[in-house]
Amino acid sequence: MAQHPAIWIKDPIGIFAENAARGIVVRDGRIVELVQAGGAPRTADAVAFDASAHVVLPGLINTHHHFYQTLTRAVPAAMDRELFPWLQALYPIWAGLTPQSLELGVTVAMSELLLSGCTTTTDHHYVFPRGLEEAVDIEVGVAKRLGMRVLLTRGSMNRSQRDGGLPPDSVVQDEGTILADSARVVAKHHQRGEDAMVQIALAPCSPFSVTTSLMRKTAELAEKLDVRLHTHLAETEDENKFCEQIHNCRPLDYLEDCGWLNARTWLAHGIFFNASEMKRLGKAKTTISHCACSNQILASGCCPVCEMEEAGVAIGLGVDGSASNDESNLMQEVRAAFLLQRARYGVTRVSHKDALRWATRGSAACIGRPELGEIAVGKAADLALFKLDELRFSGHGDPLAALVLCGAHRADRVMVAGKWTVIDGAIPNLDVADLIRRHSAAARKMQVT
Ligand SMILES: [Zn+2]
Repeated sequence: MAQHPAIWIKDPIGIFAENAARGIVVRDGRIVELVQAGGAPRTADAVAFDASAHVVLPGLINTHHHFYQTLTRAVPAAMDRELFPWLQALYPIWAGLTPQSLELGVTVAMSELLLSGCTTTTDHHYVFPRGLEEAVDIEVGVAKRLGMRVLLTRGSMNRSQRDGGLPPDSVVQDEGTILADSARVVAKHHQRGEDAMVQIALAPCSPFSVTTSLMRKTAELAEKLDVRLHTHLAETEDENKFCEQIHNCRPLDYLEDCGWLNARTWLAHGIFFNASEMKRLGKAKTTISHCACSNQILASGCCPVCEMEEAGVAIGLGVDGSASNDESNLMQEVRAAFLLQRARYGVTRVSHKDALRWATRGSAACIGRPELGEIAVGKAADLALFKLDELRFSGHGDPLAALVLCGAHRADRVMVAGKWTVIDGAIPNLDVADLIRRHSAAARKMQVT
């Protein structure tokens, strides 16, 4: 393989790493050297990139999202509602998703994420109306075009209103179809190894939209294919009640009973676990995606992240679907998580560095990619570089803290696997105005039908 010249990200004004005050050297998609204060790169042919106006972070990792929901932001019928009635208001609109509108929704979500400094994202796609059977394939196409690293999930729903579930019949599929397509997308798209750009996980939507049989068979399939498992759990009190009514147990007991309580699984939300449940999660190495904005908008509650971490549970961050956030900006999610958790735990237990750690190393643990989320030799060259030249930063002290405290929201440069995917605050070859025009038109059309 031909070697590309090494790049020295030189003399940043701040960097979220130890022993790298003069920057880092990247080559062939990996970080190959940290340059200490007063030092110079040992890599002889490294070409310098002047980072003297930048703060450098490991690329942020988004561990929970529903890209298609960018088409239904701030929908009046769903506003000011809690999770269940919110879902019931939106399901009929989502039933109108088409391959064209999905592709636009996905492009908008991924572009927003990239521009906010996110280099790796997951997506949880579980709405499969007739005609949208290739939803995951469409998402893979967009990720490749934008150069983003992804862990896309083949989501599912098979318990509709007919069977006592929440979603209407028009958006669910049967178990056989779901399992066959899950195996198909893994075989077609899932890459293995540390340099993987596209991975697939399996993700039944939630206990109230999926049958027990599908939960169990999905876990078995994930084990057989060696891919990760994802679902929503312990998001609301309503969910606890539903679980107790239908299954006579709490959500975590149900999860365990279905064969999901293990290191393969990461869960979105995790708000309503008690102390002994947190210990069980920690022991099982199951991880949690904390979605601070979504949890606040839907008034679901607050994930007890410090207790979770003390119990050995890794915490990542997720922007969650754009109908409950309603944005896809991971840097702002870092600030939201920082503020929410600081209010809960106080100044000595939560710092801006904790929030940055959740969005990087913590998120990497959630998605089973320890080679991501950290600036260290041998790790992936996935980086987010922010400038501090906006009005909001004027007068700042600590540059790293300023990103979180002053509310950074747009990266100036983003690198994924050693390639620049955002340059001067823009995605090369992406006509944003045209994308907004087409995406808005598709959203309007969906929302009136
Ligand atoms: Zn979600």
